[in-house]
Amino acid sequence: MAVLSRLLKSRHCVFSSILCTIRTFSSSSLISRTHLRLSSSSSPSLERNVQWVFLGCPGVGKGTYAGRLTKLLGVPHISTGDLVREELANRGALASQLEKIVNQGHLVSDEIIIDLLSKRLEAGESRGESGFILDGFPRTIRQAEILEGVTDIDLVINLKLREEALLAKCLGRRICSECGGNYNIACIDIKGENGSPGMYMAPLLPPSECTNKLITRSDDIEEVVKERLRVYNEMSLPLEDFYRCRGKLLEFDLPGGIPESWPKLLEALHLDNYNDETSLAA
Ligand SMILES: [Zn+2]
Repeated sequence: MAVLSRLLKSRHCVFSSILCTIRTFSSSSLISRTHLRLSSSSSPSLERNVQWVFLGCPGVGKGTYAGRLTKLLGVPHISTGDLVREELANRGALASQLEKIVNQGHLVSDEIIIDLLSKRLEAGESRGESGFILDGFPRTIRQAEILEGVTDIDLVINLKLREEALLAKCLGRRICSECGGNYNIACIDIKGENGSPGMYMAPLLPPSECTNKLITRSDDIEEVVKERLRVYNEMSLPLEDFYRCRGKLLEFDLPGGIPESWPKLLEALHLDNYNDETSLAA
């Protein structure tokens, strides 16, 4: 019932998007608000922790950076894909409905995803959890509007990587056919020219026992990857605008691999004082 009333409450959000074109926020005010939240959450007061969303195209490294930040901030990393898999595995209330949808090859509806997400957030709250980082949700404006009716989002981090690096990264992906390990054989070394900086991303090579067992996913071929990126961009631009005009979007251009990008990301989030063993871990 609580979920339903929140869903209904979210309907008014459609109108707020009309207003947003006249509202602009400077990035400094965005960060100072983030900073305030973080400062207050680390104080002994009962203020909640961060409620962030990670956006970014497939292959950009969302999972990696979201995972590192959740460890650093002590908040759960919530992926809606995992919520669906868990509901099925634990035979939850929606399991049989989900099974039917998945078996028929249909997409799980926004309402079911939001229902699972609300339950997850409520369960977390009752366990004393505070804050979260969402990964893979929302994907559309409609989902973002429904989400607005369920919970507050403080900040949306949009991870971006130069197209040529992204393409090389996707094409370099390899999976070990025996242990299932994920590797990347692409060594990205783009020379800086005409004032634009160069970029280096080291490959993630497999251990010797996997070297001869590497396979490429059948859809990691150039045309398919390009099409995937095109579809993603087409879908995500309106969503980025949705959060931009609410003053919640932080654009972050990845300058390279994890060693260069992680400290810069912490700096952009005013978390450099958190710089600890997480940044040293591989
Ligand atoms: Zn292996």
